[in-house]
Formats: sequence, C-alpha cells, structure tokens
Amino acid sequence: MSPRVVVLTGAGISAESGVPTFRDAGGLWEGHRVEDVATPEAFEREPDSVQRFYDARRRAVAAAIPNPAHLALARLERELGDRLLLVTQNIDDLHERAGSRRVVHMHGELSSALCAACGTRGAAAGDLDEWPPCPACGERMLRPDVVWFGEMPYELDVIEQALVGCDVFVAIGTSGAVYPAAGFVLIAAEYGARTLELNLAESEITPLFDETRLGPASVLVTEWVDELV
Ligand SMILES: [Zn+2]
Repeated sequence: MSPRVVVLTGAGISAESGVPTFRDAGGLWEGHRVEDVATPEAFEREPDSVQRFYDARRRAVAAAIPNPAHLALARLERELGDRLLLVTQNIDDLHERAGSRRVVHMHGELSSALCAACGTRGAAAGDLDEWPPCPACGERMLRPDVVWFGEMPYELDVIEQALVGCDVFVAIGTSGAVYPAAGFVLIAAEYGARTLELNLAESEITPLFDETRLGPASVLVTEWVDELV
C-alpha cells in the first residue's frame, strides 16, 4: 500500500518560476510592505492601490511557467491519487498548470475573486481595479480572493484531518514563519508521520523535522518523488 502523503508548498517553489516572494528584498513584495497590501486594513484604506497590486501580480503569474518541482508533484498525484493532499500557501496557479488536480489553496488564489457583499467566490475575469459587478449579487465589491494577515485560512479542517492521518509530511520552500502552516509539522509528527523539509536554506522550524534537505526545489522535489514512486 502506498503511503498517505501531505505536501505543503510555500513561496520557495514559486520563486524558482520567477514569482517574487515576500522574503525577497527584506520582506518587501515587489517593493511594497506587507502591511500596505496584504491586510484588510490596507484594503479599507486604499482599495484601488491594493487592487492594482494584485492585478499586477495576477498578470506576472500568468507569464510564469511551472518548474520541475511543480511537475514532479503533479506526477506524484498521478501515482498516489487521493492518498496525496497537496496544500499550498501560494496564491498562483502553477500547481494546476503543472497538472495537479487536487490542490488546497489555504491562502486563496489570484485567479479567484471574493465578493465582499455576498461572500461568493468565483473566477476573477480580468482586473479588479475596474470594480466589475459580482456575478451573483451585482454589487461592485469584488476583492482579491486571497487570505490577508489577520484573516482565517481556507480549509483548515480538511488539512488537519489529512495531517492526522498521513504517513509522510513534506514541507517544500516554506519559511516556517507564517502560522498556522508553520505548525503543520508538529501535528503530523504528533500523529506518527515522518517529516521532511525540502528548502533552499534552513528555516525557522528546521529543528522540528526528522530530516531536512537543502537545495533548489526543482532538484530536491524531483529526487524525492523519484524515491517515493
Ligand atoms: Zn456578490
């Protein structure tokens, strides 16, 4: 019987496709401070500039292409089927474009819009700074469907259930600085999973893993999937 696996991916895997991360340039994201673009307060204060920021991110991601790490994880899904849960902190769609079908976007998705009036989530058709009407209720209150600091991540119940039941937990390209994702390794370990970290450099939570391998995700993830299947 193949193992039950939970994979958590973070900004490091997308960085190898050229998608900028918060960790670049000392915590700035394309020159913006996190608190100016990734909090509900920033959106209340300056909605148009926050919309333009995410509109630009959406276009940048559309121009990026999946790298070998994304492709390896899609191959792993084809081997393991529903014994794999792929959880990502990333808001891009590089996993999907690599061929992964079951992806939990715990921090939301750039390709989705969330209606602040009625709560409907749906595909973001084009730029949101033009304030298109919500397809469900008609209000012009669509915001990026991304989880900002201070907001509750998506599908934590699904993720926790998978962590409790998994044999192997692997964190790829995560900083270990953002909770609750940084605590997933503890849940998995408590319930008996082997834990592995694949990262470019040691993270804040490296000591919590059974094993850490350092290097580019495109190399390490491909090697690990080869070992497993
Ligand atoms: Zn609506």
